[in-house]
Amino acid sequence: MRIGFGNDIHRLSEGRRLMIGGIEIPYDKGEEAHSDGDVLLHAIIDAILGASAKGDIGMYFPDNKDFTKDMDSIAMLKSIQNQTGAKIINIDSVVTLEKPKLRDHINEIRKSIADALEIDIDRISVKAKTAEGLGPVGEGKAIKAEAVVLLE
Ligand code: MG
Repeated sequence: MRIGFGNDIHRLSEGRRLMIGGIEIPYDKGEEAHSDGDVLLHAIIDAILGASAKGDIGMYFPDNKDFTKDMDSIAMLKSIQNQTGAKIINIDSVVTLEKPKLRDHINEIRKSIADALEIDIDRISVKAKTAEGLGPVGEGKAIKAEAVVLLE
């Protein structure tokens, strides 16, 4: 068994899609990024890489290359699963953002991640919380995600 941890943060700006776990969440702002900016998937990818001791997301998907421009983070996740040969026991994660509320989207996000990894949805936990108005996340300027993964 091996445990891994990952986190990520992106600025939020108008004219961008808000991508969380491969799902586009209706909102008037989204993640600023070279790729699609999916903060949750980036945290999960780093957790898988961490458990595998195989570096970090930037080594595989640099943010200054043409092939990662607007890249679908679900494709990144699948690629990392394949490259590491990771057999995932479970993933737990937290997304922190001030708005919008994710409650009604959580199961769709969990299913999206489970489908991408071809594992049961009951192995994927996604929790959402606010930053209580504190700091850049609390001021609605950014979105943050943290994830832990257990590999066999
Ligand atoms: Mg990122």
